Amino acid sequence: MQQADVVIVGGGVIGSAVAYFLAADPGFRGSVAVIERDPTYAAASTALSVGSVRQQFSTPENIRMSLFGAEFIAGIREHLAVADEAPDVGWHEGAYLFLATEKGRPILEANHAVQRANGAVNVLLSAAELAERFPWLRTDDLAAGSLGLEHEGWLDPYALLNAFRRKARALGVSWRHDEVVAIEREGARVVAVRLASGTRLACGAVVNAAGPHAGRVAGLAGIELPVRPRKRFVYVFDCRASLPINQLVIDPSGVYFRPEGAQFIGGVSPPEEEDEDCLDLEIRYELFEERVWPALAHRVPAFEELKLVRAWAGHYEYNTLDQNAVLGPHPEIRNFYFANGFSGHGVQQAPAAGRAIAELLVDGRYRTLDLARFGYDRIMRNDPIRELNVV
Ligand SMILES: Cc1cc2nc3c(=O)[nH]c(=O)nc-3n(C[C@H](O)[C@H](O)[C@H](O)COP(=O)(O)OP(=O)(O)OC[C@H]3O[C@@H](n4cnc5c(N)ncnc54)[C@H](O)[C@@H]3O)c2cc1C
Repeated sequence: MQQADVVIVGGGVIGSAVAYFLAADPGFRGSVAVIERDPTYAAASTALSVGSVRQQFSTPENIRMSLFGAEFIAGIREHLAVADEAPDVGWHEGAYLFLATEKGRPILEANHAVQRANGAVNVLLSAAELAERFPWLRTDDLAAGSLGLEHEGWLDPYALLNAFRRKARALGVSWRHDEVVAIEREGARVVAVRLASGTRLACGAVVNAAGPHAGRVAGLAGIELPVRPRKRFVYVFDCRASLPINQLVIDPSGVYFRPEGAQFIGGVSPPEEEDEDCLDLEIRYELFEERVWPALAHRVPAFEELKLVRAWAGHYEYNTLDQNAVLGPHPEIRNFYFANGFSGHGVQQAPAAGRAIAELLVDGRYRTLDLARFGYDRIMRNDPIRELNVV
């Protein structure tokens, strides 16, 4: 009979981070198997992500998770080196710039206070200060902006996944190209996973790290998890004018953009009523024409002459309750762990999520950052912790 102490379902950036932190924990002595059904990661959220890192959230836990993420990434060459070969995740130091009209100003200010109280370093700017600092920006309809001053930027998310995976493997974690198609329970315990290849893998614990498919994987264990695949488009465009932009700008319309090498990328999340569960990766170009471009051209006049170069689609692993992560064991099936529902901010939270799940598996409690509020029990109580800054 085949066996692993911990089975991780899904080897994206979250599953790979959990595998690394667990294998690196001096208190862990067991075996870890990551089951990944598509080692090309062609449709995984991680590979299709925009890979940006910010501290500007409205929920303290999110701010602190992303701060740890930024610190970890700053030291990644030491943390994840294998045999003196240090990974390069293409870190680019930039900043987020959240913009607000008069109507949005109180939320921006309230978020700023929470962010400062939780260690984020950013500054509130008036419309006049925005105009002075960013001459390429239209500011006459703005009241304020919040600009990150530290630990914000972007990286190559696939390189981050690979760095975690390579190090985890070096520490003894096994990676299997297979799909978890069933999860066996005996009462309130998970005892084995069944794989598409026919293998039955007995296990001491299961970690659900299946990204947008997490709801389905939880369902295999008879658990309802409100995490769904929701499609997002990323549009790549050229601008003729040379603009000194080094920010990821979030317009009050919800449209965002940032530089990507010599080009720009941008997009928008649809309104809730249009945001359906969706598994395909078909691109909607008309969304760019109808919603994204008009907002871009309004905010940055030079973007009136932009040229759309290409686009891609990916899935958010969207927590329909509150767009926040679900972390930790199921309150009754205590050896089934969630690392799910990051709703568009999972790349930057992978280090903190990986560390958190490893701490729970090894010690049964959070040793560093207390993420108990992100537990599954809030789902059972239907008690959302709403994150206001979902991009
Ligand atoms: C367009 C876009 C932009 C984004 N921008 C950002 C950003 O700027 N910053 C940020 O932090 N986050 C961003 N995100 C979110 C981020 O990409 C995700 O939160 C993160 O990648 C989730 O990682 P994951 O490992 O949970 O999921 P995934 O990367 O999807 O990995 C899950 C893996 O599980 C595997 N799997 C699923 N079911 C099974 C099964 N039954 N058996 C075996 N394997 C299985 C899948 O094949 C997959 O490889 C963005 C996402 C998208 C789509």
